[in-house]
Amino acid sequence: MNKPDYLAPQTLAEALDALGKHPHGVQLIAGGTDLVPQMRSKMVQPELLVDLRLLGLEGIEMTGDGIRIGARATHTDILESDLLAEHCPALVESAADIAGPPIRNRGTVGGNLVNASPAADLAPPLLVYDAQAVLASSRGERSVPLEEFFTGPGGTVLSDDEILTEVYIPPVAPNSSSKFIKLGKRKAMAVAVVSVAARLTLDDSGSISQARVALGSVAPIPMRALKAEAVLEGHPPSAELFAEAGRVASSESSPIDDIRASGEYRQKMVAVLTRRALAAAWGRLGGEV
Ligand SMILES: Cc1cc2nc3c(=O)[nH]c(=O)nc-3n(C[C@H](O)[C@H](O)[C@H](O)COP(=O)(O)OP(=O)(O)OC[C@H]3O[C@@H](n4cnc5c(N)ncnc54)[C@H](O)[C@@H]3O)c2cc1C
Repeated sequence: MNKPDYLAPQTLAEALDALGKHPHGVQLIAGGTDLVPQMRSKMVQPELLVDLRLLGLEGIEMTGDGIRIGARATHTDILESDLLAEHCPALVESAADIAGPPIRNRGTVGGNLVNASPAADLAPPLLVYDAQAVLASSRGERSVPLEEFFTGPGGTVLSDDEILTEVYIPPVAPNSSSKFIKLGKRKAMAVAVVSVAARLTLDDSGSISQARVALGSVAPIPMRALKAEAVLEGHPPSAELFAEAGRVASSESSPIDDIRASGEYRQKMVAVLTRRALAAAWGRLGGEV
């Protein structure tokens, strides 16, 4: 592996300046758990590494209008956050399913999203919370809904001169709950064969006023299952409704065969896991199917 130069800026402005001065050959590094293996295998050969560790991008906090998760918050930070446990349980569940403790202590939410694996475990729950990626550059700041963030395997809308500074989750409606389920070849240290996140919000009559279903590892990007959401909205929760939403989510997915599973198996599992995730979210609201 060629040894790149290394810079650890102390301010966001310095980091953005470094990106602007080295438009090519510069690579941001957070936990390094995706990047360093890519450098070792020569998939990526940066001339300069810009380390984000001193920028203070770690916090997870409630603001007046939602929750802000700093891009350098680690999976362990998410797992140990009481705030997220209360408002975004599916996100905490996804962090718990990532790798093992050493990787969870280093890997960050920013790295997980920017690496843009279709199997990125934090992506489906963040999609069901309607999260936005906050991107900074020397030109200013912009927010991108997460469902518009991914462009393909390994690809995002991030420009060369931008840094993902935080993930913003808008207020989660009352009478709403969520669930994340990951299917891997084993319980730990496994890339998802299929992952599903679901969120349900109920209105005063007990019907589903808003539904979100998001899938991982079954399409080129982590995706919302919009047709399954439409099946759910406006109806009272029931086992039959959740099963139908599962079937529709399965038909929306487009998984490939790979070393972990066939596309056909993945598609079948989307139906099963979507039904289970919806039932579990409903169970957290006191329902039973
Ligand atoms: C053994 C092992 C097991 C793993 N298991 C899982 C798993 O179960 N589930 C899962 O989802 N992932 C898993 N991963 C992948 C990885 O740990 C996660 O994706 C992690 O969140 C990446 O974060 P990082 O901070 O280490 O990213 P880095 O490796 O530092 O960076 C990844 C990419 O994102 C860019 N980047 C990082 N932060 C920013 C930012 N703030 N702004 C702009 N660009 C940025 C970097 O330039 C790089 O291109 C595993 C990795 C390993 C090595």
